[in-house]
Amino acid sequence: MALEEYRSKRDFTKTPEPENNTPHSDTPIFVIQEHHATHLHWDLRLEIDGVLKSWALPKPPPLELGVKRLAVQTEDHPLSYADFTGVIPEGEYGAGTVDIWDKGKLIIKKISSDSIHFELDGRRMKGEYVLIRFKGGEQSSKNWLFFKKK
Ligand code: MN
Repeated sequence: MALEEYRSKRDFTKTPEPENNTPHSDTPIFVIQEHHATHLHWDLRLEIDGVLKSWALPKPPPLELGVKRLAVQTEDHPLSYADFTGVIPEGEYGAGTVDIWDKGKLIIKKISSDSIHFELDGRRMKGEYVLIRFKGGEQSSKNWLFFKKK
């Protein structure tokens, strides 16, 4: 159900991306993928409810306090995507190269529909972070703010 949008955007006879979900891990994980698509961006993915909740960051992830980044929510990805690196072929959705920029343990501290407070233990991303959804009209906004917490 949650992965319908993910699957509908991709032709798995053409892209090397994983089609199916894997069982959830005992220890929740996060991954940040560097995606050299039409525009270079970073994809933040958090394991929540058996999928990877995903956000695209137009600028590099915030390593320091005081750095606030736009994070645009995208479709849920399968957990198996956390290991994906490779080349999405020209003409396919997200065409370009995907590399793992960071990966590690995730601890969700507090979560609601409009904010997530969590801890990351990766090679680069360490400490407590916050995602807060922008207030926006009647529809819930896809735009979130992502920053490191004191
Ligand atoms: Mn991407």
